[in-house]
Amino acid sequence: MGKVVRIVDRFPYALRGAGRENAQSDHEVCRYERMANATVMKSRAVDRPVEPGNSAMCTHCGAPVKFVARAQLRQVIANVYEGGVWVRVEHFHADCYAEAGAPYGPAS
Ligand SMILES: [Zn+2]
Repeated sequence: MGKVVRIVDRFPYALRGAGRENAQSDHEVCRYERMANATVMKSRAVDRPVEPGNSAMCTHCGAPVKFVARAQLRQVIANVYEGGVWVRVEHFHADCYAEAGAPYGPAS
């Protein structure tokens, strides 16, 4: 808990680009840079192969996004942000994402 408070406390330094000097390890520097980049938090979607063990439900059609041997199915995974804040991950069959009108932009 104390650690979290400390990092939040230092967040303003990251925004001013002065976090590096105060970082106590490379890991912390990495955290600062990730936070500094947090100003461009918006929904985005990526296109990925459907892998065995995948059990997500498609946001568009409600059916499971399920692995089928030798079918090489594609899925779209979207990180959904509302008001700059991450709220959830949504999964789509690749075709369903297109059918839904690519609600989170073109999948990369
Ligand atoms: Zn679907």
